[in-house]
Amino acid sequence: MLKKLEALTSTLTNSRRQTYLDKKVPSGAFFILLLTSEYKLFYNVHGGCYMEIIKYPDPILRTVSEGVKLPLSKEDSKLLDDMFNYVKEHQDEAVGLSAVQVGVPKRMCVIRFKGTNGTTAYKLVNPKIIGHSSKMIFNSEGCLSVDEQHDENIGRWSAVKVWAYDAITKSNVCITANGYEAIILQHELDHMDGKLYIDYINK
Ligand SMILES: [Zn+2]
Repeated sequence: MLKKLEALTSTLTNSRRQTYLDKKVPSGAFFILLLTSEYKLFYNVHGGCYMEIIKYPDPILRTVSEGVKLPLSKEDSKLLDDMFNYVKEHQDEAVGLSAVQVGVPKRMCVIRFKGTNGTTAYKLVNPKIIGHSSKMIFNSEGCLSVDEQHDENIGRWSAVKVWAYDAITKSNVCITANGYEAIILQHELDHMDGKLYIDYINK
């Protein structure tokens, strides 16, 4: 029964997801509802997670997140796992996610991306920039919370040193990051202070 359900859900989701991506879905609340419940079912059946991403201009995104008590509570640990799985499952469009983006204003974020040196992955708690280069780099960015794509280049430090607790290695870490990784860290840490990349445009 479960197998049948899995097969059916997978077929339905794949076909509908494609339709959804192509934006050919007929308008109407019924179809949105159908898609939403199907996604939830898909992620539950496959052991993944469904997370609702808070979208701009929701005021929650402007919240300054609170520090997290260590050792991590079961609840915080589970949230980090779910956020990490979400990014892993959406690797085509996601390389990082902060807790405030799923409605929990706590200083936690996950990062996962593939580079030339393999996969970089963190589940960071209370991350803090403790040093940075004077050199800046300018690139366009995207954000799961901002639907509209803005192609303007955003200025970021080209290198940062970040101190945090990492729930993957279960230890305090001091990350020295350059280029792409430095940009992701600055983007995610900005979320914890209620900032979005679009705030840097026209400044
Ligand atoms: Zn973002």
